[in-house]
Amino acid sequence: MDCTKPAKTQCDVTCGHCGADVEQTEGRGRRKLFCSAEHGRSYRRRMRALGFPV
Ligand SMILES: [Zn+2]
Repeated sequence: MDCTKPAKTQCDVTCGHCGADVEQTEGRGRRKLFCSAEHGRSYRRRMRALGFPV
């Protein structure tokens, strides 16, 4: 395993809102879960409407 790269770049992520591939940026920080900030907002708004604590 290449320890010089963060593990988050080694797994594919699809947008939780529209299902598009999400490119991960290298470096520290959280994994990106959505293709855009707008889709992240839409997803959380929808989940809250359904009663999930996101
Ligand atoms: Zn999206």
